Amino acid sequence: MDMQNLLDDIVGTIKPHLGQGEVAGYIPELGAVGADHFGISVATREGEVFASGDSEMAFSIQSISKVFALALVLADDGDRIWKRVFREPSGNPFNSLVQLEHEDGIPRNPFINAGALVVTDRLLSISENPSTAVRDLLRQESGNDSLVVDAVVADSEARHSNRNKSLAHFLASCGNLDNPVDDVLDAYISQCSLAMSCTDLALASRFLASNGMRGDGTALLSPPQTKRINAVMLTCGTYDAAGEFAYRVGLPGKSGVGGGIIAVVPNNCTVCVWSPGLGRSGNSVAGMAALDEFTTRTGLSIF
Ligand code: GLN
Repeated sequence: MDMQNLLDDIVGTIKPHLGQGEVAGYIPELGAVGADHFGISVATREGEVFASGDSEMAFSIQSISKVFALALVLADDGDRIWKRVFREPSGNPFNSLVQLEHEDGIPRNPFINAGALVVTDRLLSISENPSTAVRDLLRQESGNDSLVVDAVVADSEARHSNRNKSLAHFLASCGNLDNPVDDVLDAYISQCSLAMSCTDLALASRFLASNGMRGDGTALLSPPQTKRINAVMLTCGTYDAAGEFAYRVGLPGKSGVGGGIIAVVPNNCTVCVWSPGLGRSGNSVAGMAALDEFTTRTGLSIF
């Protein structure tokens, strides 16, 4: 079966999963998105795209942004970030407070919220244009110059961010933030609120399937750095469902509570799926089912 037929077929087979799970209501504006959407896009290393369903509809990328922020920090600052963030699966919800206190303000990994706040803090310190660094990378790699922060979503999250504020203040009390808490939160919320389609995200993620090489042929990351980001995605990218994700999908992946998930087939292609209904750990139910179907039917998994 060719790739286009496969994706069209997956759009049909995941239909029973649409509407399953809960749309993220703790950010009210995300809760307003219809639960029945589903999109899927595959981008090859060379930039060829196959897509089906709501693949061109923009959604809130939320925690998928954490991969790109980490990539920028590793690219500019090498391994320094690993003194401030561990890289072990948390086994806890992405916004848990408990573990952070037990572990003296060193977040378990860069993909839970506490870890991403530390990565964002570092990006604020080292980037020439910290407020647009993640957006600019995503624009360049997707080729979509019009992608922007959804100000309504950002405002909605900002008005409902007591949990992330708590994490940030606790990090600051442990000496693990260099910038003011409000600056870190603003930058974090704004990168989470970028609006992109499955095709945008699949294209923008290609450096992860290309040994760190950007679309223009320059290196964003070295091959070993790319290997390491993919490893952290595999073990931590879907939070306390990372074991289930590895079992079902068998690829490095990163989810966001907007319902998107990116997955990487190293040296081959990237896949982005989107459907807003989330399971208990904050990962798209239909998205996970579609990626399971994709790797099971193509054999494109790292296992
Ligand atoms: N902006 C969201 C939050 O901080 C991101 C969480 C997610 O996508 N898992 O809660």
